[in-house]
Amino acid sequence: MKYISTRGQAPELTFEDAMLTGLARDGGLYVPETIPQLSSNDIKAMAGKSYEEIAFQVMRPFVGDTFSDDDFQGIIERAYKGFGHAARAPLVQLDHGHYLLELFHGPTLAFKDFAMQLIGQLFQTALSRRNERVTIVGATSGDTGSAAIEAFRGLDNVDVFIMYPHGRISEVQRRQMTTPSESNVHALAMDGDFDDCQARLKDMFNDFEFRDGVRLAGVNSINWARVLAQVVYYFSSAVSVGAPDRKVSFTVPTGNFGDIFAGYIAKRMGLPIDRLVVATNQNDILHRCLSGQGYHKGETSPSISPSMDIQVSSNFERALFDAYDRDGNAVSQLMDELKQGGFDVSQGAMEVLQSHFVSGRASEEETSSTITETLKTSGELLCPHSAIGVKVANDQPASETPMITLATAHPAKFPDAVEAASGIRPPLPARMADLYERDERVTRIANNLDALKDHIKGNIRQ
Ligand SMILES: *Cc1c(COP(=O)(O)O)cnc(C)c1O
Repeated sequence: MKYISTRGQAPELTFEDAMLTGLARDGGLYVPETIPQLSSNDIKAMAGKSYEEIAFQVMRPFVGDTFSDDDFQGIIERAYKGFGHAARAPLVQLDHGHYLLELFHGPTLAFKDFAMQLIGQLFQTALSRRNERVTIVGATSGDTGSAAIEAFRGLDNVDVFIMYPHGRISEVQRRQMTTPSESNVHALAMDGDFDDCQARLKDMFNDFEFRDGVRLAGVNSINWARVLAQVVYYFSSAVSVGAPDRKVSFTVPTGNFGDIFAGYIAKRMGLPIDRLVVATNQNDILHRCLSGQGYHKGETSPSISPSMDIQVSSNFERALFDAYDRDGNAVSQLMDELKQGGFDVSQGAMEVLQSHFVSGRASEEETSSTITETLKTSGELLCPHSAIGVKVANDQPASETPMITLATAHPAKFPDAVEAASGIRPPLPARMADLYERDERVTRIANNLDALKDHIKGNIRQ
């Protein structure tokens, strides 16, 4: 299995190299050259299997020769054994035909643990075999960073630096990043918003001397291995509600477009998905784009769903690549225009995008009232991100097809917003109940490439 860049100018890589690299050297994102297919019978056979067994079946064809079957099975087992729920991704019913996929039972209480715990094990296995080390730098709007730190803390072959926008993430998110005491973990509070963090990360990757000097590796949602890990729960949940004999729809609280893109890959692999619904908060560039208004950046406005407060969705480039018939030059041009503020999508590409995705948005008030209403009608206490999904799913036209809404974080990760809406302050699960008492360690840093590079060079282990 070969991986190619969405901008067409970077070398083709194996799964292992695409995973260790993250961003392609031409600024693009790696995607598999072809999409492996699962037959109806393959999907039927998933009924009754464990999450780990389904994960192996779904991901195996993408991994190629990088890992043996035994190694890969071991990696999957270790990745998910620390989850607080035996089913890993349990499904609960909200209403007639509407289900909630709980993706928040991992160590940092958000769905990003599914990808990051797997990536930690994949990196550890590949790097120790090669006797190499890497420096992982990530930008986070909150949940990616904590999930990355949790996945890489204490690993011998990795130093990890995570930039987050100072003052713009929840206290639980911050504490999950600043309290691990391992010396290979570095939390950086940047003076800027998430898009600034993401832009500086791209700058570091485009500075080849720095990139090669510190052996930079990226685990942001641009890393293909992360997208791949997220494809699994589309299969496991769809099979629980009757796929492949029955079609299924999904609504996905969306920011960087990684999670919903995994759903698109599941569909391309053969899972009978009817609708893939992109749910955004007030930072609704994707909803505007999918409604035919072009892809134009605005100002990011902070919301009660901070993990979705972004204006540029990095994984959307992968969807554009397919929509433009895998024309790397066309994608490069769009990304150049984006630097000037935005671009319009061609009519042909728009038709492709709209054949796969629909979209909706939720305002701050709608998010809060959905938390209140859902508690009343089903007893489920939603986090604000999941509430956006439920609201947008409820807005979809009535259908016989079951709808699965992805619950992307545990309510206790965003206790202030949840309490304001519901009157209930959700407690942390027992395994992390002392989080508010632990000591914090963090470096405040300017939104400046040189300052960041100096800090990283000065703090990596050789
Ligand atoms: C990251 C995140 C999202 C957005 O997911 P993308 O893959 O970036 O679209 C939604 N909700 C929560 C809680 C998140 O952490």
